[in-house]
Amino acid sequence: SHQATVIDGKAIAQTIRSEIADEVRHLSKKYGKVPGLAVVIVGARKDSQSYVSMKRKACQEVGIKSFDVDLPEQVSEAELISKVHELNANPDVHGILVQLPLPKHINEEKVLGEISIEKDVDGFHPLNIGKLAMKGREPLFLPCTPKGCLELLTRSGISIKGKKAVVVGRSNIVGLPVSLLLLKADATVTIVHSGTPDPESLVREADIVIAAAGQAMMIKGSWIKPGAAVIDVGTNAVDDPSKKSGYRLVGDVDFQEACNVAGWITPVPGGVGPMTVAMLLKNTLDGAKRVIEQ
Ligand code: NAP
Repeated sequence: SHQATVIDGKAIAQTIRSEIADEVRHLSKKYGKVPGLAVVIVGARKDSQSYVSMKRKACQEVGIKSFDVDLPEQVSEAELISKVHELNANPDVHGILVQLPLPKHINEEKVLGEISIEKDVDGFHPLNIGKLAMKGREPLFLPCTPKGCLELLTRSGISIKGKKAVVVGRSNIVGLPVSLLLLKADATVTIVHSGTPDPESLVREADIVIAAAGQAMMIKGSWIKPGAAVIDVGTNAVDDPSKKSGYRLVGDVDFQEACNVAGWITPVPGGVGPMTVAMLLKNTLDGAKRVIEQ
């Protein structure tokens, strides 16, 4: 029977990371400078800590200098903002990432708005998102997960122009910006959210499906148009007593079923996840090049 091509995000991300490492070596040789990324974490959430340590380690592997800022859960909003200002002013820091979510007493929107747009490597500053949404404008940085989704499509030889794309989810960090990116790439885009009646019939029309709802295996094989490209952003922990951890990660798509119908599909884990980190490194490199090469 038919089997979809499984897009190996881990391998593609590794290729990108070695391209970045080459460019960092070149910058270092030619200008005696390396890109710098500040990774700011507030508090001790387990998931945030593991994302942050992954990002810091990835920096070291490609020769990007990582500036570690670890603040206690009780830090005030004013103290966090003054730290951001200090990083904005530091010429060795080319990118600033504040790991989300922040503790409840801190206004996330306010903090993200204080990051210099020239250093906004997560691409979450309202000016960068605004430029992404406007025709003829170019943001300085694209959000990492959405950028990773498009990179997976293009590096797999899947064209976007003129295709019907359905994005499931409209969050500020994934669904909305990935929709805007697909639109910029000349897809015809439909956005499905929790108020959408009959998401199944909309998904069934799609040549490209981006699943970012955070609902384990919500999208069944029967929802997929034969031959479609399916990018599964969902990362959901489900109980699995056979694992030492007691859980395993599954996507928003029923992978086994979808494999029998789709043309291409990304696995979870090993699809979008590794690309997000690779795009963060790429954004940091690009931000550094804008400063160092001028
Ligand atoms: P989120 O903020 O919870 O947003 C989920 C979106 O999906 C919302 O827009 C919501 O609609 C919509 N939605 C939820 N249930 C739905 C349903 N049954 N039918 C249709 N739409 C539904 O989540 P997020 O931060 O965007 O993340 C989405 C998923 O991606 C999560 O599993 C997350 O762990 C994963 N993720 C992975 C990476 C990576 O690098 N691999 C990065 C970021 C996130 P409403 O707007 O109406 O509420």
